Amino acid sequence: MHVLHALHRLDERTVPQLRRRSATKAAAQNVNYRHAFHAGNFADVVKHVALVAILLHLRKKDKPFRVIDTHAGRGIYDLDSEAAQRTGEASGGIARLGDLSGASLPPALATYLDIVRATGAARYPGSPLIAAQLLRESDKLIAIEKHPEDEAVLAQTLARFKNAKSTCADGYARLAALLPPPERRGLVLIDPPFEAENEFAQLVQALAGARRRFATGIALVWYPIKSTAASDAFAGEVLAGGAQDIARITIDIGRDAKGDKDRLSAAGLLVVNPPYGFVEKMRAAASLLGPRLGRTDGTPAKIAIDGAGDL
Ligand code: SAM
Repeated sequence: MHVLHALHRLDERTVPQLRRRSATKAAAQNVNYRHAFHAGNFADVVKHVALVAILLHLRKKDKPFRVIDTHAGRGIYDLDSEAAQRTGEASGGIARLGDLSGASLPPALATYLDIVRATGAARYPGSPLIAAQLLRESDKLIAIEKHPEDEAVLAQTLARFKNAKSTCADGYARLAALLPPPERRGLVLIDPPFEAENEFAQLVQALAGARRRFATGIALVWYPIKSTAASDAFAGEVLAGGAQDIARITIDIGRDAKGDKDRLSAAGLLVVNPPYGFVEKMRAAASLLGPRLGRTDGTPAKIAIDGAGDL
């Protein structure tokens, strides 16, 4: 089942084409997924607003924090690139937010939009570039990316931030060695490509390990939703693994009339140890994002946000 998810997130080619490719060049690295096809889509927007909301919370205290981004991507994306243009996904995501501005925006959404707009026209910042810009002098970012080409771009993108660094490695394997962080405060962002059939199982294991080593840490996890049952089972396993407090966000843009069943139409975010007020802050942002994000026919996205009390 998760192989199908992986295909949703790959690109627009056919399954045989993808199989041929994975048998050659990409097999050497064991990474086929390229985020350039999906940067700035509806799921990226909500994920990155949630990331900003968490980092703004961590910045409230004087104590330093650390961000570990286990599947970081390349850090910056060109929305005019052939890959981005082929899927056109940003047109149902970041491109819909042009009218949002002003002092009355929820702070996480306002900060996210400031960062995106400062990145430049037709450029979209990935999670490590967003996080790097929200670090204070004493905070740190470790960004892990397995694809060597993407990691090389990421290293260049982060070069101007002295407290952010990237590494080319397996994010799950490296995470265990990085916890607990010396600061004992911070965020682990796990945003895998869902190429592996056992990605949910790997996530559950990674979160249980993170909890054992860094029980008070915040974790933000992205996943594609193919069935409510699978995403409920995932949340259930995370709780069974010892997580005490979680919040969940689901974003559903539905399918268009053409019914392209291979295209991602729903995604989820699971937050372990959500910061105080996170659910309310995300609901405020979602009230502005829901009507804008979505399909080309203008049907609004459904964004549901549940805190511990609702689950
Ligand atoms: N977090 C990024 C953002 O929000 O801008 C997007 C990340 S993208 C969904 C997933 C990334 O994980 C891809 O760049 C892929 O090359 C990388 N990847 C795949 N397997 C990995 C692994 N085992 N460890 C680290 N990175 C991996």
